[in-house]
Amino acid sequence: MIDPSGVAFIFFDLDDTLLDHRAAERAALADCHATFNHHFNGHSLSVIQDTYHAGNVPLWRKYAAGEIGREDVQRLRFERLCSTLSLDLDATLLGTTYLERYGAHWQWIPEAEAAFHAIADHYPVGLLTNGFVEQQQGKLARFPVLRERSEAVVISEEVGVMKPHPAIFAHATEQAGVEPHEILYVGDSLHSDVEGGRAAGWQVAWFRGDGDRDGVLAFDDWTTLRDALDLA
Ligand SMILES: [Mg+2]
Repeated sequence: MIDPSGVAFIFFDLDDTLLDHRAAERAALADCHATFNHHFNGHSLSVIQDTYHAGNVPLWRKYAAGEIGREDVQRLRFERLCSTLSLDLDATLLGTTYLERYGAHWQWIPEAEAAFHAIADHYPVGLLTNGFVEQQQGKLARFPVLRERSEAVVISEEVGVMKPHPAIFAHATEQAGVEPHEILYVGDSLHSDVEGGRAAGWQVAWFRGDGDRDGVLAFDDWTTLRDALDLA
């Protein structure tokens, strides 16, 4: 559980916590499927979405481990999709189209916007996100309140390591200017957010999480988090 009086700063994860990255990814692939339909060899949209996602995850893991660079991630995820499904399609063109369409589909997770404002009315807040600088800043430009209300914005590419690396949590703690145990992190990833946050000595609220863990509040409904912070 969370002790509201012991919380002095609240960091939010961005993708799939405040903003619906996964829906934007799927919608962007749907747009690509519609645009290049005759090049997709009759593969259904869901096969394309699942294949893309399955290929993207290990690439991000290699990127996080410093084994490949950001350009490799951006290039290889579409080269792999094309080769896995034997698509007669220019992977670079597909990647460019995807990024354009991905940016067109960003939206808030339902209820997250109101909760973010309610929490920011009572606590200093910040953003701590894994991702590419340009892309994450594009999201902040699209939803300016995210930056306007945040006292600290930490993007992994700027720091040089990704969550759950201890150095990015140490950097974020310094930015917050409070003790680690006074920080509450709101995020959806078990590995990056929950394990990373706990290892840094932060309290954690795990969006769409399951299971009880010490120092972690799992919640599906933003009202639960607001209640836990006495903001109902
Ligand atoms: Mg996330």
